[in-house]
Amino acid sequence: MTESSCMSKLEAELRGRFGARVAAHQPLAEFTSFRIGGPAELMVTVENQAELMAVLDAAHRADMPSFCLGSGTNLLVSDRGIRGVVVRLAGEFLNIDFDGVRVRAGAAARFGLLVENAVERGLAGLEFGEGIPGSVGGGLVMNAGAFGGEIARVVRFVHGVTIEGAARSLTNGEVGFAYRRTALPRGFVITRVDFELRPGDREALRARVAELKGKRAARQPRGLPNAGSIFKNPPGNFAGRLLESAGIKGARVGGAAFSDQHANFIVNLGGARAEDVRALIEMARARVRETSGIALEPEVRLVGEW
Ligand SMILES: Cc1cc2nc3c(=O)[nH]c(=O)nc-3n(C[C@H](O)[C@H](O)[C@H](O)COP(=O)(O)OP(=O)(O)OC[C@H]3O[C@@H](n4cnc5c(N)ncnc54)[C@H](O)[C@@H]3O)c2cc1C
Repeated sequence: MTESSCMSKLEAELRGRFGARVAAHQPLAEFTSFRIGGPAELMVTVENQAELMAVLDAAHRADMPSFCLGSGTNLLVSDRGIRGVVVRLAGEFLNIDFDGVRVRAGAAARFGLLVENAVERGLAGLEFGEGIPGSVGGGLVMNAGAFGGEIARVVRFVHGVTIEGAARSLTNGEVGFAYRRTALPRGFVITRVDFELRPGDREALRARVAELKGKRAARQPRGLPNAGSIFKNPPGNFAGRLLESAGIKGARVGGAAFSDQHANFIVNLGGARAEDVRALIEMARARVRETSGIALEPEVRLVGEW
């Protein structure tokens, strides 16, 4: 079978089960905080684990790639879009359940909502997450962190579905947490994360969150679509500082530019293409390498067909 006939067969199978929850050639710009990105060949929204297993199994049998989209706040989706099946989680994946200091959070739950709920219950450990956009699943994959904290420190178990469509649970140690990355099995889709927090003083936690909110507001550019920090901080240094010394602040390609407020943010000035952002990333890496000898590594994930 040719690739396009495999895809048609897969589309027919998924439409048979999920009906209007399957979209073909779905533009992805509206699903990313950058407001950039070409189409998903197929996009499917699943609402429970059985549905997710069925989609991954079908894509695997059809030999088609699958990609799990979170809230799209750390992504640069190529202008040509993403081949295969893009899976979005909804329904039961939005649930957050507290049981004493333990929390079970669905992968599609908003990370910020989890942080707020924990603070209001007087549970400590997630305050660093104030202002980090995105989902619990995306936060887990990226080992999201800020102000000295990171998600890895409060995770007990990660539950999900393998690329072949089988359920699997991992302990914290098996996730392979490192700075803004994890070593999850290829194609693993997280369904739920189990956290263990600590009892804390609600007023003190609220005060800490308010302090972090103020710090973030003072540092980050507002108003224009972006995907947060473009580069990771290299060991012992700051990407923003290196970019600023390399004179990159304000550099522009097409509709994208490095922010003049924070050198490590690229903003979409309107109508930016993924290629514009990629060109800026390459330009910045080259200049920083020339000026400091340091090779910056992107934090934003470049996905799709380039
Ligand atoms: C204004 C702004 C500020 C930010 N500040 C911070 C910050 O302070 N600290 C920080 O760490 N990050 C920050 N970020 C980056 C981003 O918010 C985080 O990386 C976030 O955790 C990504 O979550 P997401 O749901 O948007 O993931 P996405 O961007 O949708 O996806 C990121 C990766 O996770 C994968 N993924 C998502 N969900 C799942 C799942 N259920 N199963 C398997 N894989 C999945 C995707 O396939 C992709 O590879 C910021 C972004 C913005 C726009």
